[in-house]
Amino acid sequence: MSGRNHRNVRGRKRGLEVSASLQGVPVIVGQIVQCEIVGLTHQGEGVGRYEGYTLFVHEALPGEIVRAEVVSVGKTYGRARMIELVARSAERVDAPCSIYEACGGCQLQHLSYEAQLRWKRQQVVDSLQRIGKLQDVGDGEGEGVIVHPVIGMDDPWRYRNKAQVPIGSGEAGLIGGFYELGSNEIVDMDRCLIQQEPNEELVRIVKEAARMLDISAYNRETGRGLLRHVVVRHAVTTGQQMVVLVTNGHDIPLAQEWVSLIRERAPHVVSICQNVNTAATSVVFGDTTRVLWGEEVIYDEIDGLQFAISARSFFQVNPVQTEKLYSTAVEYANLTGEETVVDAYCGIGTITLFLARYARRVYGVEIIPEAIEDARRNALLNGITNAEFEVGAAEVVMPRWQSQGIDPDVIVVDPPRKGCDPALIATMLELWPARIVYVSCDPATLARDLRLLADGGYRVVEVQPVDMFPHTGHVECCVSLVRK
Ligand code: SAH
Repeated sequence: MSGRNHRNVRGRKRGLEVSASLQGVPVIVGQIVQCEIVGLTHQGEGVGRYEGYTLFVHEALPGEIVRAEVVSVGKTYGRARMIELVARSAERVDAPCSIYEACGGCQLQHLSYEAQLRWKRQQVVDSLQRIGKLQDVGDGEGEGVIVHPVIGMDDPWRYRNKAQVPIGSGEAGLIGGFYELGSNEIVDMDRCLIQQEPNEELVRIVKEAARMLDISAYNRETGRGLLRHVVVRHAVTTGQQMVVLVTNGHDIPLAQEWVSLIRERAPHVVSICQNVNTAATSVVFGDTTRVLWGEEVIYDEIDGLQFAISARSFFQVNPVQTEKLYSTAVEYANLTGEETVVDAYCGIGTITLFLARYARRVYGVEIIPEAIEDARRNALLNGITNAEFEVGAAEVVMPRWQSQGIDPDVIVVDPPRKGCDPALIATMLELWPARIVYVSCDPATLARDLRLLADGGYRVVEVQPVDMFPHTGHVECCVSLVRK
């Protein structure tokens, strides 16, 4: 839904130019319309209808009637800015965060948490039906796919164990906070209601120390200046914290002074790392990481298993919900202790080690070398000897394992948002395991892949959504598939 194809039709000349392609569109830019909101996009925008035309209205909720000013018009949809709430949804709540309107981080704070959970389940159902073309998706009354109610949090605030804070320059020097919604402007911020408090405090300390030492902020336009991002992690079970300073270049002036200032003020920090990123990119991390002080990793625990986590490794950000997600994956794997299991996209071996406790042998594959180093270290740390890990793309390594005669009974996949590579799906279908467990953070690519697996002979049995990211539009799912 980028605005790229949208033209401002206010200017007369351009208005004439585009009018042909906008024929039949019932609104023009600047027009005030009253419309009914019939849906919600996962960016939290209300989907409005005006004379059959779709208008996205920021922060409007389904069931509401709003008066809004049209701000852009395209062939199939436009955007409008709410001016007045004419009829209010019973599910609307006041967003508790004071910067909610400006910040792009959360999308659903204005919707009650109960309603968020119901909406997330519906997102999953809709994707499975529309994209996955799966039949009879429901709550288990029929024969088809069961989509359970979303497992939510009792207290859906302060859940994130990691903060990635972009750094920029303000009037009074270095600032860090968030990108203003729909822009590249950085707004300074010291308080975020979905961050764990120790992270908030640590970011404040790191920024303050940087200001004291006159560290320059990276400027995205000129490519100059040093500090790009401050990334902090907090391990809830041990209390350990890590700081990663992402810098535009290797040299940090007064690095040791900076380290000392952080250590003095943040006694739970056990690791201060530098990651170098000189590329003109929005990707946070570069390829080189070094320890400035302390350990290379911090340690956290999930359900009695310990995990070493290094700067660049993926680790689920919501520890309370992670345990529920992984337990569901283990339940769906339905292990007796005799099975061979493959965990593709294994990260630092989290799900792999959960599975290893109940399987004969597990194999994990992951593309980031440091994550595999962590995974091996984590197996040792927990005295787990039946897990093997390999670095590489799952779609490349799995066929190799297949040719080596590794014959899994269960395959678990947990891919990034883009879903599984088609080559991996093809390999899974050749390996033909009794069960597949699909952990997904994107219902659309999940639905696409489930279609392929269903066509290949698997039955999609049940889907358990877990709310890993309250107040955002994200939905995580764990899916059980069995060989027909
Ligand atoms: N299951 C893990 C990690 C899930 S995140 C956990 O819950 O902690 C997805 C992981 O897939 C990331 O670690 C990412 O680095 C990795 N990845 C991305 N593309 C990959 C590919 N083609 N092959 C293997 N791993 C990949």
